[in-house]
Parts: sequence; C-alpha cells; structure tokens
Amino acid sequence: MDVRFWGMRGGVPICGPDSQRYGGNTACVEVRCGDELLILDGGSGMIGLGRHLMQELKGAPLDAKLFLSHTHWDHTMGIPFFLPVYKSEGQLTVYGIAGMGEVLKSFFEGAEAGEHFPVPFGKPKVNIEFKELLETTQVGEAAVSYYYLNHPGLTVGFRVEYQGKSLVYVTDNEPYRSTNQELIRGDDDESYLARIDREVAAFAHSADLLIADATYSDDEYADVVGMGHSSVGDAMRIAISAQAKRLVLFHHHPLRSDQQIDDIAQSCRARLTRLNSKLEILTPTEGDRVSL
Ligand SMILES: [Zn+2]
Repeated sequence: MDVRFWGMRGGVPICGPDSQRYGGNTACVEVRCGDELLILDGGSGMIGLGRHLMQELKGAPLDAKLFLSHTHWDHTMGIPFFLPVYKSEGQLTVYGIAGMGEVLKSFFEGAEAGEHFPVPFGKPKVNIEFKELLETTQVGEAAVSYYYLNHPGLTVGFRVEYQGKSLVYVTDNEPYRSTNQELIRGDDDESYLARIDREVAAFAHSADLLIADATYSDDEYADVVGMGHSSVGDAMRIAISAQAKRLVLFHHHPLRSDQQIDDIAQSCRARLTRLNSKLEILTPTEGDRVSL
C-alpha cells in the first residue's frame, strides 16, 4: 500500500511564509492498493492530486474511489476543482454515509453551485456515482471499513486493509469522555464513555499507519472543548492504546506554523522516549509518500 499526502490542514486552506514547508491545503490522502486508487477526503489538497493525475492518465480514463469522512468544507472543497472530473472519461465513485450523496450533487447542479462560485462548474465528463458505505467495502483486494467518530454532524473514520497492511484514518474526532462528562456513569470499572473511546482505539488496533486528528496542542485544548477535534495528546493516546506502529499528526490547525509543527513533533517524540514507546511520529509535508 502506498500513501501520499496532498492536504494536511483542518478548517480552511492557508498560504504564507510560515506554512510553506508543511503546506496549507486541507484534508486529502491518496492511497494506492495495487492498481486501485483510493482517495480519503476531498479537501483542497484534492486539487493538487487532480493536476498530478492529469499528467499520469495521459488521456486514459479515470477510475478512482473517493471516501468521504463527512461533508464539512475542509473535506470536500477540492471536489468541484478536481480537474479529471471535467477533462477525463471514466468513473469517480464516492463512498459515504447516507445523505452525503445529496451534498455532493449540490456541488455540480442546483442552486448552491451558483451561490458559492461565479462560474457554473458544468457537466462532469466522468461518471460520478455515490455509494453508501457497507460494513466492509471491497475495492479490488483492499477492504475498507468505517467507524463513527465524535464530531458535529455525522463523521466516520476509515480503515483500509491490503495485503496484510493497515491504514487507519480518524480525523475530526474528539474523545467522548472529554466532551460528555455528565454521561459518565461509573457503573463499571471503567466509565461508559471511556469504553466508547476504547472502541475507537480498537478500530485502529495494530494499524501500520494511523492518521489522526491533532488539531490542538494540549494547552490550547482546554479552551476549545466540544469543537469536535483532538489535541496532540489525544492523538498519541489513541495511537498508544491501539498499539499503532506509526502516527501521522493530521488536520493541523490553520494558524499552526511550520516551526510549531516541528516543535510539537519533537515534544511528542520526547514523551514517547520517556514512555519507552516504539510509536513513530510522522509529520509529512504535502506530496510526501509513505509505503506500507
Ligand atoms: Zn476538518
């Protein structure tokens, strides 16, 4: 399985001298499983992926499977600007939970298209088809499963299994126990919400690569409880609990500078050393590849 990162930001795309190294595009991850092309989320990073695919396709038809975690802008805004949709023949299959198909349609037809952009996007040349996620969606030899996360609106994470390797993508997720203290019942050795959080970690169990929401620093988190995002510490807790091998800090806050991302990664590594953990921390820049 080959993974390439096209957008690492959350919230809104940014550009400026402080973000040139890690890049400012929002969530989009390309995953290749043999000949199959899977795309996790269609944030503004999908625009760069589209340009790259145009060179790669050289006129051949597109065949891509786009998995949407949810429909917030930072995960969908690249879709109407994905060039192969207008320039290639072929197929773009979009997978998501019920209701996401209607949002997708609104990008290309209906009033919303005109309300949000001055030029009509026009008729897609590729065939765009929406499919509801199955418990396990088979894409060639790759198996994609999903799990509900704690984020405003319905949001899911994905697990891709291919030839004995696993990639887990759980972004836009806030630990339940941080946001719903009143629901903690204490009726067991462990609270109800802690158990739900453990199920998220179980979904990521033994992941070779875990891509997780790390929007806030631990210090910032106290002021933003309930926004539906994790702190860097939360991302590490999920990864350690899941016994993941590598953790990608993802969905960087739009105000986060390159230097701050470096500092956060360094402090994570120092904490892991103190914990005697083998977990590896990755902070890919746009265009970086990881092979599993
Ligand atoms: Zn987001």
